[in-house]
Amino acid sequence: GDFPVYASAKVVTGFGRGSKQMGIPTANLNPEELPKEIRDLPKGVYFGWVQVRAEGLDGGVCKMVMNIGNRPTFTDSDAITVEVHILHEYETDFYDQVAAIVVLGFIRPEMKFGSLDALVERIGEDIKIAKSSLEEEVLKSYQTDRFFRMYR
Ligand code: ADP
Ligand code: MG
Repeated sequence: GDFPVYASAKVVTGFGRGSKQMGIPTANLNPEELPKEIRDLPKGVYFGWVQVRAEGLDGGVCKMVMNIGNRPTFTDSDAITVEVHILHEYETDFYDQVAAIVVLGFIRPEMKFGSLDALVERIGEDIKIAKSSLEEEVLKSYQTDRFFRMYR
């Protein structure tokens, strides 16, 4: 099938439209650096592993949920965004650092929510799905993939 897909890109500034305030910060990846395999994925929510390659950060490989799309709850824009919410508590921001990802599965298509609460609730569900899926042996094994060891 389509997975795994490997990619790495710089963390750029998003719209600053409150992902963090919602308790769900998303590291926005520079779409120009991303390979076609990522940009061509159907809009929606995915899961996988991520490593933030920043000086002074722990460099661990963490679970993530990734949204590809144009945030229809917030805008009518058709500019694509690729955003990764990492299931890890970081002490600091890491803008301008490189995030390396391996995408392993699709959770759901992008949809427009009637309220912020509905969106946040659904993301909570997405996170549960990501967490449990990544515990499966084959998908868990990607946490120690060579792709991540190259940096460690
Ligand atoms: P922006 O609109 O600039 O993307 P966000 O509110 O989405 O702002 O916050 C994203 C930023 O928060 C990331 O670029 C990163 O530097 C930082 N951050 C801290 N913890 C996390 C995390 N667990 N997952 C993703 N980003 C995080
Ligand atoms: Mg963001």
